[in-house]
Amino acid sequence: MSIFDYMFDTEWSQRSDIQALKQRNSSLATRVALNRASEAAQEERITELEQEVGELALLSKTLMRILLENGVCTGREIEDMMHQVDLEDGVADGRVTKNAASDPGKCPECDRTIQEGRKRCLYCGHKL
Ligand SMILES: [Zn+2]
Repeated sequence: MSIFDYMFDTEWSQRSDIQALKQRNSSLATRVALNRASEAAQEERITELEQEVGELALLSKTLMRILLENGVCTGREIEDMMHQVDLEDGVADGRVTKNAASDPGKCPECDRTIQEGRKRCLYCGHKL
């Protein structure tokens, strides 16, 4: 290999490397942008859920106060009924768990409305 070939080869190889790095950088930049968008969507969802939890806490606190102050039932009766309601979804986990039987129109993964008879969620691809 002459010195000319060596130089030419090196230059070509460097240009090829630079091109490859540019493409890689561009694809990484795209992925970073997608991750940021996804992160922003998740932050928004968290804010919505925090709002919902706050509203539900306010509602249950208000109802409890009305029931107890008006002597409708005792704290013990509320605890017993909570346990009973907790078991209605088949799991004693201290909360009402969503399941397919109670909410057939929603995707269990992304919670979006799904059409009956579909094998996969149109939005997230979750197998139904
Ligand atoms: Zn889904």
